[in-house]
Amino acid sequence: MGIEDHLYKSLGYYQKLPSFITKPLGFLYRSIPLSVRYGKLYSEYEDLISTSEFWSDEQIDSFTNNTLKKTLVNAYENSDYFHDLFSSVNFSPYSFTGIKDLEKIPFSDKSTIRSFKEQILSQKFSRDRLIYVTTGGTSGIPVEVYYLKGRERTRELVFMTDQWKRAGYIYGDRIARIRGTVVDQSGNNSFFRYEPVKNRLYLSTYDLYEENFPLFIEKLKQFKPHFLHTYPSAIILMAKYIIKNDVHIEGIKAVLCSSEQFYPGQRELIEKAFNCRVYSWYGHTEYSTLAGECECSSNYHIYFQYGFTELIDEMGNPVSKPGIRGEIVGTSYEMTAFPIIRYRTGDYAEWVENKCSCGRNYKLINNVVGRWQQEKIITLKNSEISLTALNMHSDIFDNVIQYQFYQKERGKVTLRIIKSVNYQKDDEKKITRSFKEKFKDLVEFNIEYIDNIPRTQRGKHKFLISELPESCNN
Ligand SMILES: [Zn+2]
Repeated sequence: MGIEDHLYKSLGYYQKLPSFITKPLGFLYRSIPLSVRYGKLYSEYEDLISTSEFWSDEQIDSFTNNTLKKTLVNAYENSDYFHDLFSSVNFSPYSFTGIKDLEKIPFSDKSTIRSFKEQILSQKFSRDRLIYVTTGGTSGIPVEVYYLKGRERTRELVFMTDQWKRAGYIYGDRIARIRGTVVDQSGNNSFFRYEPVKNRLYLSTYDLYEENFPLFIEKLKQFKPHFLHTYPSAIILMAKYIIKNDVHIEGIKAVLCSSEQFYPGQRELIEKAFNCRVYSWYGHTEYSTLAGECECSSNYHIYFQYGFTELIDEMGNPVSKPGIRGEIVGTSYEMTAFPIIRYRTGDYAEWVENKCSCGRNYKLINNVVGRWQQEKIITLKNSEISLTALNMHSDIFDNVIQYQFYQKERGKVTLRIIKSVNYQKDDEKKITRSFKEKFKDLVEFNIEYIDNIPRTQRGKHKFLISELPESCNN
């Protein structure tokens, strides 16, 4: 384990310190090599990616079979849930011979995790070695998973750094981040926060509307970011503004986009506004699939070193033909304490037939669609706040069974909540505080308690019901 995991708990205190302390402290810390900060696992994964990046199909197949087997044996031996699940279908991980065998294992999904969290969790590790993480609420049901200290987050950093390297990223480059972070924790109503350890400028997504654009642009010009890290709905209005007003922000190498698909024309617009390429990728908190674009194409290259990815149709059968949409199902090669096996993500993609000209033999997908990710709340000023921006990596929904946003008027939103038996007045306070912090006075927010949220005709939970007239949606 590196020193990073020991410091993780102190992050909240650090962020509250004044900048004359955090700046030099952060700069010093940034100069410590990543392999020291994150431990030897960092270098191990770095080596794995660099040696395997251009492997042949045979090498990849052999790696996949070995790693899958190891992953399944771990789940069987250490997780009561998977031990029982495998036994119930007479599946023995010890006699695993290849990916065809995987099909014997039943799928799991978010509701499996919610119902069997304690049984899934391996008994091998003491609680103080675990980190408890809540996934984004964009799926309608937040899900909690456990990471092992010093493992999953370290691995994620290596893979994300590799993904960004394709866009020219060098560790320490300046990144301007517009991704739903609440910037102002001091109460000073500031739109910006600089974080010296990562050399990042955080910009408030919730204040990103037309009358503030000049201020945001000025700040970007001062900071001179090498990269913008954002998602389409957060940046698109500003991109339009930049083009309309013929603004030039120099020196951005790429716009790094994740978490959302692009509407037609959005990518081109962002590229034109910032005069550089967009690089996009797909990943999630359960860490079973990671796939991203490369230097040569905008197809997503699935990292075979990270997990095993399948696409399935509505009946649960594998989708193997290109161009047919299937649900992304992932098996994570890390997640040792909390195995993620044949996990239905609720996101969709299509296989791409050919290999990429970049020379990597990675499997390719495109048209990746998150089920809930394109839905937006429209503010009083007609700006958009996507559900991705609102995602709640926190504990505010711990005592909520399910929730749904309802919008009928611009600038007003109701959060409908189904309470669990543990729900208290305090939960209401926490939820209200958290949303008011994000919506400010752009969206009037209230809570309504209900017993049941009707599903769509296809049996899915809808995360936002919007009855706004079309004209409000721009
Ligand atoms: Zn490629």
